[in-house]
Amino acid sequence: MAKIRINIATGSLQQEEMIVGIDLGTTNSLVAIIHPETKQPVVLKEYDGTALVPSVVHFGERGSITVGDEAKKYLITDPQNTIFSVKRLMGKSYNDIKEHSSFFTYKILDDDTDRLVKIQLGDRFYSPIELSSLILKELKNRAEHILKTSITRAVITVPAYFNDAQRQATRDAGKLAGLDVLRIVNEPTAASLAYGLGMKKEETKTVAVYDLGGGTFDISILRITNGIFEVLSTNGDTYLGGDDFDSAIAIHWQNQLNISDDQLRNDKSLAQSLRLRAEEAKIFLSSHSDFNSSVGDHIVGLKKDKFENLVRSFVERTISCCKNALQDAELSVADIDEVIMVGGSTRVPLVKEMVSEFFKKSLHDSMNPDEVVALGAA
Ligand code: AMP
Repeated sequence: MAKIRINIATGSLQQEEMIVGIDLGTTNSLVAIIHPETKQPVVLKEYDGTALVPSVVHFGERGSITVGDEAKKYLITDPQNTIFSVKRLMGKSYNDIKEHSSFFTYKILDDDTDRLVKIQLGDRFYSPIELSSLILKELKNRAEHILKTSITRAVITVPAYFNDAQRQATRDAGKLAGLDVLRIVNEPTAASLAYGLGMKKEETKTVAVYDLGGGTFDISILRITNGIFEVLSTNGDTYLGGDDFDSAIAIHWQNQLNISDDQLRNDKSLAQSLRLRAEEAKIFLSSHSDFNSSVGDHIVGLKKDKFENLVRSFVERTISCCKNALQDAELSVADIDEVIMVGGSTRVPLVKEMVSEFFKKSLHDSMNPDEVVALGAA
């Protein structure tokens, strides 16, 4: 029988040995549980309401390790010791990633072999599994702190295209963080479950899951038959996402303000301010038509129409991926029953319009697109 205890803070009953669902993302991670009273999935939040934990790890001078928002602050000021996007390295060799090696600001060992990559920090070497385990350990600690109970069991999600080595690496990271990984679930499957698809028996549906995050785009075509999920095809671009929207805005302002590339290279804080203001503008324009602000002494502004012109070609690239995914699954648009929107960048109205127009369908976008994968995992 499961042990029951009382949470002193809330007075609520809690079941010992809760199982958590973890969305271990490239940019952000989060944890969800099934609420013991409502039996509904909920995302775990800190007192200030934050649920997303940036998937960033910083190694300080005296061996201190920080994860999440604290670590993110060091991305520009201490890039060699700040690990981001480690998910891109899971189960990969140097040969697999060398084409993109300039993307990483920290030191990835170039041994030009098919052995799994190592990351050098000072005189120590870390595997992506160890680094991911630090993120998972932080998520576990936060969950334990919020729930006031120990967490030892988890379901972790991975992209549908992850191969066996990448899935195993994710399991190993969980184990290293002190988690018994009960299941590895595909992210699009989790998102479908969050919307209640696949919960009914005798149901056959073909679903497209469109996932546009900060740095990656995935489209997955799934067939659900009697609650069994089959991945018919996946496509995407592992270097395309909301970060590209931010860059496009930052470059637009840089040109308007006549700031040279050299100037930006030498003034890291100006570069960072431009990027942060650009992201702010993008987010603001998801619900407004005009953004006005400043960067240092410079006045900057952006209208929604201009923003849409700046990012349209990126969204068109995602639509090409959708076409390829349909072709690989030997399906046409008319065969798709449901379209699910996942990832923070699907909040951009232009993205929703173009996806809806392509699939000729209304979209499942009522849930928080950052949370649906974790909720499904729960
Ligand atoms: P994810 O990787 O799913 O956490 O998505 C993160 C991306 O979503 C980042 O590029 C964010 O800037 C972007 N994002 C978050 N909220 C919004 C919003 N309201 N409008 C546009 N983009 C957003």
